[in-house]
Amino acid sequence: MFSYRHAFHAGNHADALKHLTLIGALQHLLRKPGSVSLIDTHAGAGRYRLGGGMAATSGEAVAGVLRLLAALPESANGLLADYRALLAAFNPQWPTDGRLAIYPGSPLIMHHAMTQPDRLDGAVSRDRLHLCELHPTDSRVLLTLAAGLSSHRRVHAERADGFAALRALLPPSAHGGGSRRALALIDPSYEIKSDYALVEQAVQDALRRFATGVYLVWYPIIGRARAHELPRRLKTIARQAGRDWLHATLNIGQASAHPGEPELGKGPTLRASGMFVVNPPHPLADALRAALPAVLAALAQGPGQGWLVETSE
Ligand code: SAM
Repeated sequence: MFSYRHAFHAGNHADALKHLTLIGALQHLLRKPGSVSLIDTHAGAGRYRLGGGMAATSGEAVAGVLRLLAALPESANGLLADYRALLAAFNPQWPTDGRLAIYPGSPLIMHHAMTQPDRLDGAVSRDRLHLCELHPTDSRVLLTLAAGLSSHRRVHAERADGFAALRALLPPSAHGGGSRRALALIDPSYEIKSDYALVEQAVQDALRRFATGVYLVWYPIIGRARAHELPRRLKTIARQAGRDWLHATLNIGQASAHPGEPELGKGPTLRASGMFVVNPPHPLADALRAALPAVLAALAQGPGQGWLVETSE
C-alpha cells in the first residue's frame, strides 16, 4: 500500500482518457442551473509538475499529453479543444515558452469547472467539491492545494478512505435549495486487489443511495481476471438498477524494441485503460467518439492499439 504515486503517471494516456471523459461529463452536468456535489474519492496530489522529478523520471507525460498537444491541429474542436483550453488555463506561460509545466489532476479539473463564470453566485461557486486521498504525502499536498483555491470554502479535502466518504456523502444534500445532483469520480490505483471488489460495491451502494448520480470509474486493462471482469460487472450493476451506462477504452498498443534502439521497447508498462460511466450525460458518447481517434493517432505505439465507446442504448 502507498507505493503508488500518481506524479509518475500524470498526463499519460490513461489520464488523457480519464480527464477527457471527466471534462465531458462535467460540462453537461454543470450546464444546467442548480448546485452539484462533486466528489473525488481518490484525488491524488491534485497538481503535478511535468518538468522534473517523478514525471520526468517516468517520461509518461512526454509519451502522453505532451505528444497529444503537439499533434493537435489549431482547428481541433470539441473535447480536445476543451482539454487544451483547460491545460492552457493552468499554464499561462505556455503560449510564449511552449512548455507545459503543470498538469492539473482531477481535483483541479473539477474545481476549474465549478468556478467558471456561469457557475458563480457573486464570487462564490454554488457547487461543492469533496476530495479524499489516503497517501500521507499526497494528502498533505492536496490539503494545502485545496486551502489555496479560490472557492476553498466550498472545497473539503481530507486524508480519508474515498470509499467510506462516498457512502457518507450520498445522497447529496440540496445545499442552496433546488434539485440534488452529484458526480463522483472513483479512480483507485488498484494497488491492492480488493480495490476491484470495492469499486463494484461502491457503485452498487451509490446507486442505492442516489440513483441519479453520475458515477465515473477508471480501471486499468491488464492481464488480471478482476480487471477484465470489472466493466462486465459494472454493466450488470447498472442494468439491475435500471440506469444507462457508457464504457470507453483506449489502448495505445505495444511498442516493439528494435535492435540497437533499446529505448523503443521502454515506456509505460500500462498500455490500456477504461472509463465506465453510470448515468452518462447524453452527448458524452458522441463527444468521446469524436475525440478518441485523434488521441489514438497521436499516442499509438504499435500492435493492439484501438479505442472503443459503447453504451447501454
Ligand atoms: N484522481 C487523480 C487524478 O485523476 O488526478 C489520480 C488518483 S490516483 C490514480 C489514485 C490515488 O488514490 C493515489 O494517490 C492513492 O494514494 C489513492 N488511494 C488509494 N487508496 C485510497 C483510498 N481507499 N481512499 C482514498 N485514496 C486512496
